[in-house]
Amino acid sequence: MTSTEEFEAQLEATRRQLEALTAEVARNDEIMRRAQMRELRLLQAENLDGLIRALIDGLRVSYGVDYVSLVVCDPDHDIRHLLLANGTPAEEFRDLQVVESIAGLAPQYIALQQPWLGSFAACDHQLICPGAEHAKSIAMIPLSHRGKLLGSINLCSCDPMRFTRVHASDFLAHMGVIASFCIENVINRARLLRSGFTDVLTGWHNRRYLTVRIGEELARARRDRTRLVCLMLDVDHFKQVNDTWGHAAGDVVLQELAQRIESQVRASDVAARYGGEEFVVLLPGTDVASALKLAERIRMAIASSPIGLPCGEEVIITASIGIAEVSPGPNDKDLKTLGDSLIARADVALYAAKSAGRDQVVVEAA
Ligand code: GH3
Ligand code: MG
Ligand code: MG
Repeated sequence: MTSTEEFEAQLEATRRQLEALTAEVARNDEIMRRAQMRELRLLQAENLDGLIRALIDGLRVSYGVDYVSLVVCDPDHDIRHLLLANGTPAEEFRDLQVVESIAGLAPQYIALQQPWLGSFAACDHQLICPGAEHAKSIAMIPLSHRGKLLGSINLCSCDPMRFTRVHASDFLAHMGVIASFCIENVINRARLLRSGFTDVLTGWHNRRYLTVRIGEELARARRDRTRLVCLMLDVDHFKQVNDTWGHAAGDVVLQELAQRIESQVRASDVAARYGGEEFVVLLPGTDVASALKLAERIRMAIASSPIGLPCGEEVIITASIGIAEVSPGPNDKDLKTLGDSLIARADVALYAAKSAGRDQVVVEAA
């Protein structure tokens, strides 16, 4: 080989090396860009619902894996309450597990500080990924806050080589840190929002919450072509309680009343303290006959046994209840006015119950 040919061969080899390097840089750029997009979508989630969907469905698509599950530890039921208050109970999220404790769920949780990649074993991973029947490999990415393990995101693949012990896991670890931050962030935001929606005395939702929720329930009733029934309850002669035993005793009575009403309603019903001694319960998908039975049960639960006061005395309290219903049609566009009129009509029925002698239930005149 002449020196010119040698030189050209070297040049060709260098060019190929350069091409390979350029291709690798482009590939890494693409991986980096996809990772950033993925994390951006998590950061953009506005609420807990949206974040859970971004984590489960979004990551499944983005990583191109067969199955993703999210395990979150919630010992004081805080997250479950926030989800419920937001309108979607935790059980309704497919592939989400909200648990009291994660310790016994999978052996990896004992020391999960970095992503764990390896073979999917039904005996070890079934509890955290109940739907991943055909999975062959899994990446468990820890979610933590201030060094405490909160749960994990679990990516499962039917390809046994997709997640193995030798794979680098830096990108997954980074995503786990961002996801943990996002979860903490939306939970704090939900708590803050909820505090503005909660009545301090009873722990019930307040009127502001009801106003928002009634719109959502009417939209749902319109979509599902069902009814929404509204019960409006007002305590009878409540002023006398305050006048006789003082305001603090009145507060105790209101707390006890809230508990007695709550003991009768279902989790799917929306109960709120509407004003001082007025409570509203919205019953989605219920007819007036069932609502009337429920109202009677509530009335009885209040009147049937006396309420103990802090001073040691007891007082028998009664309440009057008005019922109204609405079936929004496809042409009912102004749900705000429809909600206001539903409450106003329940209020008219309530005052009919007051006029008729109190301690009774009245359904609005057809
Ligand atoms: P009626 O049977 O016609 O409903 O009579 P009432 O005495 O219940 O009606 P009214 O609306 O005149 O009185 C309601 C009272 O409830 C007046 C108000 O001081 C009292 N109240 C409102 N909010 C609270 C509260 O948070 N705590 C206490 N202790 N009392 C409250
Ligand atoms: Mg009143
Ligand atoms: Mg009253």
